[in-house]
Amino acid sequence: MNIVTIRASSLAELFDCPARWEAKHLLGMRMPSGPAAHLGTSIHAGTAAFDQAELDGAPITADDAASAMVSTLRDKNAEVDWEDVNPADAERIGLALHTRYCAEIAPRQRYIGVEVPCERLEIPELGIALTGTTDRVRTTAAGAGISDLKSGGRAVGADGIAVTAGHGPQLGVYELLAEHAVGIPITAPAQIIGLNTGKTAAAQRVGMGEIESPRAMLLGTEEQPGLLQHASRLIHSGAFYGNGKSVLCSAKYCPRHATCHYKS
Ligand code: SF4
Repeated sequence: MNIVTIRASSLAELFDCPARWEAKHLLGMRMPSGPAAHLGTSIHAGTAAFDQAELDGAPITADDAASAMVSTLRDKNAEVDWEDVNPADAERIGLALHTRYCAEIAPRQRYIGVEVPCERLEIPELGIALTGTTDRVRTTAAGAGISDLKSGGRAVGADGIAVTAGHGPQLGVYELLAEHAVGIPITAPAQIIGLNTGKTAAAQRVGMGEIESPRAMLLGTEEQPGLLQHASRLIHSGAFYGNGKSVLCSAKYCPRHATCHYKS
């Protein structure tokens, strides 16, 4: 069986619309980032600069770390379709969330890894290899755990808790990757750090949420196959059917949209 690489961040998309996953991840069909994704990438850059400096024992201020966010956001080489979003507005929101993360979230965390890459975790019996970068590995009273930063307009509920629904498969892969890359058991619940990209100050919330043992749904049991087994069967069958009911079934998010027979 040939080995097919699955990026952690793409696993949910494989089940949401296999045809879109095939287009993007096997056929290499690309499209520019949207404003939300590019803002998320920029916030990741700024917060990582802040946390890495702390981890290195040479802390920097939130203002200093913000330059990494701003330079990523303004990167002229990044392919971004800004649509009707003003980049200056995105920068304002990004800076507000970056500042809140540095003041409200980072001081409560004990990170032992920042942007931890895992080149490849092969599972030969399934014919797949997992790859990706785990945002953070932290220590807690319950042992080491992974943390994942999620930004977006619905990343944090009105109750101040980060939305965790739908993120289990991706976090499960990050747990496997982090354990492989760092070489220590991951035993604490997986954590999502939500950064809510609302237009108003009140809607620019940060918050945290947890998922207990997200690996369980990936690995399954003797009686019930896990998502990785399903992913393997789907990919190696070559049956990349489309899902016209996917919320991302639009020309804005799918590079196959113009020619796809499954679209709604
Ligand atoms: S157009 Fe819709 S159904 Fe077709 S691949 Fe894209 S998301 Fe899937």
